[in-house]
Amino acid sequence: MENIDIWNKGLGLIKKNLNNDIFELWFKPTAFKSYNNGEINISVPNRYCGEWLKTNYYGLIKDALVNITQEMDIKINFIPDKDKEGIEKTEIIKKEAIRTTSFREKGMLNKRYYFENFIVGPSNQFAHAAALAVAENPGKSYNPLFIYGGVGLGKTHLINAIGNHIIRNKPDVKIIYLTAEQFTNEVVAAIRYDKMYAFKEKYRTIDMLLVDDIQFFSGKDRSQEEFFYTFNTLYEAHRPVIITSDKYPKEMPDVEERLRSRFEWGLIADIQQPDFETRMAILKQKAETEDIKLPEDVILFLVDAIKTNIRVLEGALIRLGAYASLTGKAITVELAKDILKATIGDKEKAVTYDAIQKAVADHFQIKLQEMKAKKRTKNLVMPRQVAMYLCRELTNLSYPEIGKYFGGKDHTTVIHACRQIEKLKEKESRLKDAIDALTKALKSQ
Ligand code: ADP
Ligand code: MG
Repeated sequence: MENIDIWNKGLGLIKKNLNNDIFELWFKPTAFKSYNNGEINISVPNRYCGEWLKTNYYGLIKDALVNITQEMDIKINFIPDKDKEGIEKTEIIKKEAIRTTSFREKGMLNKRYYFENFIVGPSNQFAHAAALAVAENPGKSYNPLFIYGGVGLGKTHLINAIGNHIIRNKPDVKIIYLTAEQFTNEVVAAIRYDKMYAFKEKYRTIDMLLVDDIQFFSGKDRSQEEFFYTFNTLYEAHRPVIITSDKYPKEMPDVEERLRSRFEWGLIADIQQPDFETRMAILKQKAETEDIKLPEDVILFLVDAIKTNIRVLEGALIRLGAYASLTGKAITVELAKDILKATIGDKEKAVTYDAIQKAVADHFQIKLQEMKAKKRTKNLVMPRQVAMYLCRELTNLSYPEIGKYFGGKDHTTVIHACRQIEKLKEKESRLKDAIDALTKALKSQ
């Protein structure tokens, strides 16, 4: 894919998530400028336009670009067109930064990630404690610290928190934080411009090295080799090395054994998927930081719908906030559902409650109205329970919502119905077959 297509494809995705007027107004006048090292530069008509895109659509744009490039992370810069002077200045500053040795690199730490805004729960307690121990006692703690966990579960947050904590206490400590991908790029550049000596010097004279997303080293032999030597030097000098990865050392077959085994010398701390309460606490905290007012039922809905990736949860929040501030509309569960559809995609075609009621009524040969009736005759109760059960299985309606569509029944009735059917299904294979057939038919409608 040509670099320029990244932005064009990105615009295609973004367009799907926005009202056309908004798209025409803010996105139409943008253009691709450049892309490298996970940073994309987009030209915008003026500074104001850039600011607007950044505050209101950063999450949306980033999601789209991450999706297209399959990078873990992308930084987006909006460069005002009529501000040539400004660009030159930033270019000069950038060049300056490269020249004046490594220690500006602690500027690379993400200033948003601290221990203070990391919510601790059963899923990440261990990793958090290990990270804090290293941050408070670098050099006298586990070395290396290897933080392992699935995508979007807080690895980057924790590793930056370590760096930020140390710098706050000892501003002169020479820390380098970077991703394995950036490390790789530096190796490549050093080879190409014959700067290997300077490269080695730089990394071997620091106090601490933080490398994010080490799984990127898979199959990159030269980078692994350089990292291996760097690691050894630092390790022997008792300087902490902290690493994150979304794979266990053993799960990285394309990383040399000698490197993998070193990762296991210190401590491996893993982050699991957060439980309900932790997701809830994280979402509430982010909403507060972003100053987005989320009603309790929307919080419940989001936390229930997004279980495996905090970044996606945050993305949904930011998008809801942007939408609400732009349209002046209130944030509701309905809106959240729409937005989630755009985020997660409508992989399975949505099944509606009335399709379920109709199919179940047909199957058991009762009238559609009887689904919603109050009558509790035996031949009606079971079909009704089956339909409620299928609503729970095939739609993302909540228990109270399902109750509403069945003639205003209480959510406890729905919960009872679902349990009842689950039990019956185990015992009666005819019922199980009927439910399987109905499910199949409904899904393929
Ligand atoms: P990873 O690097 O594991 O893919 P990140 O560290 O980038 O994940 O986390 C994704 C987002 O979720 C970040 O914005 C981060 O601040 C947030 N996050 C993850 N876990 C927590 C937590 N325990 N408390 C607060 N925010 C969290
Ligand atoms: Mg990360």
